[in-house]
Amino acid sequence: PPRSTLFPYTTLFRSCMAAHEPETATDTLLARRQASVSSGVPQGTRIAASHGLGAILTDVDGNDFIDLSSGIGVTTLGHSDPYVVQAIIDQASQLQHTCMHIATYEGYVALCEKLVALFPHGEDTRAVLLNSGSEAVENAIKIARQATGRPSIICFTGAFHGRTLLSMTLTSKVSYKQGCGPFASNVFRLPYPRVREFHDDPDVVAEQALTLLRHAFRDTVSPTDLAAILIEPVLGEGGFYHAPVAYLQGLREICDEHGIALIFDEVQTGFCRTGSWGAYQNLGVTPDLSTWAKAMGGGLPISAVVGKAHVMNAVKTGTLGGTFGGNPIACAAALTTLRRMEELDLCSRAHAVGERLRVRYQQLADAHREVVDVRGLGAMVAIEFCVDGDLTRPATEAVQQILAHCRKNGVLMLSAGVYGNVIRALPALVITDAQLDKALDALHAAADAVLGGSDHE
Ligand code: PMP
Repeated sequence: PPRSTLFPYTTLFRSCMAAHEPETATDTLLARRQASVSSGVPQGTRIAASHGLGAILTDVDGNDFIDLSSGIGVTTLGHSDPYVVQAIIDQASQLQHTCMHIATYEGYVALCEKLVALFPHGEDTRAVLLNSGSEAVENAIKIARQATGRPSIICFTGAFHGRTLLSMTLTSKVSYKQGCGPFASNVFRLPYPRVREFHDDPDVVAEQALTLLRHAFRDTVSPTDLAAILIEPVLGEGGFYHAPVAYLQGLREICDEHGIALIFDEVQTGFCRTGSWGAYQNLGVTPDLSTWAKAMGGGLPISAVVGKAHVMNAVKTGTLGGTFGGNPIACAAALTTLRRMEELDLCSRAHAVGERLRVRYQQLADAHREVVDVRGLGAMVAIEFCVDGDLTRPATEAVQQILAHCRKNGVLMLSAGVYGNVIRALPALVITDAQLDKALDALHAAADAVLGGSDHE
């Protein structure tokens, strides 16, 4: 039809749209997201972030949230630490990029020096810088394969190691990888030695899991084909189970006996979160290689593989690296983040935060039979919910409702676990006691609202 015929309808259409115009800045941004961003990117909440300071995240409509997610364990030093902001500005005006393959620059070297000092892996340690946790895991495997001349890897159920092809293969939870195969070969998975602190004896779990591993050498993969055993010392996405010390010690002995590289994925546990710089230092078992990311860059994308020098250097030159790995601005942010973490003694703070979380979680456990466990290491503490306290019936729905209730009251927390029935706290460790108490009050109120008040009332 001619344009003149369409005109009244166009006007009508516009006025109808105006009547349904999004009301808030959040609505507008979410509508733009929906129209431009792939639906493959998870959208855990309807929060549209504007800015952050310390432990507070503010949305585009000016609502504040006490942020117990830290962007999945990244802003451990808090949002926009002023020293980190300044370091980024200074570095951006001096040198934004030159690839380390082309020209050596001080920030990369200084950060590796720092990592090697923080995370000694024996007599002599080396590091390589990359961009993400997934990339660190991929590179740790490449290093282990070259160092051992072997192809195979053992990993664990409940594990999260990333979303690139190999790291996704190593990731356990089906919803992260469904339809993305074929996956990488030579990857074998064993049950993670899960300890529910309310129910299990860690020594018994460790012994059973070590027996299973020795059995796997008979019926699943020969130890002489194994390049690496890869484990998170505390399962992050998998629900904050921490491996029994006896199990990690057993792994260390088995790896030494068979010449297998022991790799700890510390992407989520690293940098003060568990009360020490690395969880492995808490647990007293040193791996051959370890992977680090998240909190290291204070919010900028940077990661690392750290390891024994003879393993890290048993690789062909050219097989590690990348255009952006250890970008100068990310290095400057990381160096300042680590210095600030030291100055503020965030390792000690993690213990205090963890204690506070445990006390309040325990109160929830006393009040609600749905709480089946409280567990974790340092500030990495989680609380698990099952229907009627029956361990075979994860309370996924209730946990989602509790988290939604918390958000309505200005508190942002995350779920975890294969069934999403665990609530985990990853607060900035600069969070004040008052902020943390307020957040935990909101969690208590949410649990009461969803689970129907205290069982003892
Ligand atoms: N390993 C662990 C233990 C993680 O928690 C994550 C991220 N949640 C990764 C690896 C992957 O890191 P990224 O998302 O930076 O690739």
